[in-house]
Amino acid sequence: MPSPTPPPHASSASRSLPVLSGGDGTQPAGRVLASTRRHAAASLYIHVPFCFHKCHYCDFYSIVDTRDRQEPFVHRLEHELEALSPWVRRPLDTLFVGGGTPSLLSPSLWRRLLRRLDELFGTASMAGRGGEFTVECNPETVTDDLAAALAAGGVTRVSMGAQSFHPGHLKTLERWHDPANVPLALERMRQAGIVRQSIDLIFGIPGQTMDEWLQDLEIACSLGTEHLSCYGLTYEQGTAMNARLERGDFQPIDHDLEADMFDATVERLGRHGLRRYELSNFARPGAECRHNLVYWRQGNWIAAGPSASGHVDGLRWKNRPRLDDYLQDTPDRTALIADAETPDPVRNLVEAMMTGLRLAEGVDARAMLSFAAAIDDRRRDRLASWATRLGERGMLEAADDRWRLTPTGMRLANQAILEAAEAIDPS
Ligand code: SF4
Repeated sequence: MPSPTPPPHASSASRSLPVLSGGDGTQPAGRVLASTRRHAAASLYIHVPFCFHKCHYCDFYSIVDTRDRQEPFVHRLEHELEALSPWVRRPLDTLFVGGGTPSLLSPSLWRRLLRRLDELFGTASMAGRGGEFTVECNPETVTDDLAAALAAGGVTRVSMGAQSFHPGHLKTLERWHDPANVPLALERMRQAGIVRQSIDLIFGIPGQTMDEWLQDLEIACSLGTEHLSCYGLTYEQGTAMNARLERGDFQPIDHDLEADMFDATVERLGRHGLRRYELSNFARPGAECRHNLVYWRQGNWIAAGPSASGHVDGLRWKNRPRLDDYLQDTPDRTALIADAETPDPVRNLVEAMMTGLRLAEGVDARAMLSFAAAIDDRRRDRLASWATRLGERGMLEAADDRWRLTPTGMRLANQAILEAAEAIDPS
């Protein structure tokens, strides 16, 4: 797969949050879900943990594929999905299979998994009902057979991990694919009938120039994509890229150049009719990723697979990340969780601000202020002052009862979001 997709609810706000017992990894997801209302989620995320090779920047849970573990994984996943089905609304509205590299699963295992998904959730007919079913793909893995299997199984959209069209920059990232295979893979999907296509790109790679970044954007647009995800390279603790940085193997890109790339992306993609609808995501009107909008709008989704995170009505949980742990059966057949957090109004408000401010549509200011007032008046006042302060600094606009980050605010989004979190929860 792709890229450094921001986790749905990663946050600095996770300090001092209530954690359910079972955070020691001995509790299955079904037990925490039993405390929520049923049939709540019309969205499902499935994590496939296999990759060819570990890209140096990646901190997602994935392991190098040895082929022999694919079948046990799918077998376990089928049981988990069946066990989770009481909490999944049928028909599903959105389904996203990410990873890892989901397209590494063999076409025959995909056919088997798609059959089971259809039996449980009616996924084969999602397209006809206006549903969205996305699969993340690596360009090296897309064959005609795989494309046909996905299309027949109801997949409506693919997200292709290109990252860069310059082989030298892929080498820097230790990302193994030939950029020439990106258009071939997209064409195979299109021929099979999967016409909704997104491409992931990374900017801010050491040694990358502005011209090279603009070329990447132009090439991606020339491939007819309706959606682009453009992430600035980050150096996450524990990744090989971060270790290389600390060893001094390379210089990180100049901060101002990276900021200029961020700004240039909006302008260049705007010329091609792709509008920024989220900090790192651009789409033609109507082609936004509906599944990811569920995350950013704090909707409900069920999670399956190792390391997958879910959210239902303020309850948040994350499955244990090791494949060996995941493969263990449990009494109710759901996965063992690494941690879970009970619904908490402060956390919910922080999360709503943190994810909603990433969106061009912003957040409902009146709703946020009344959530804050329902907790206590001091939080409401601090949140109102935060909005005033950001407005004075040109980072936030308040219009139509919504708070939206301005272009300056988008550039400084992390700071704006952190300040909002601190205003709500200064502890
Ligand atoms: S393909 Fe690379 S970036 Fe994507 S999950 Fe695998 S190791 Fe991580």
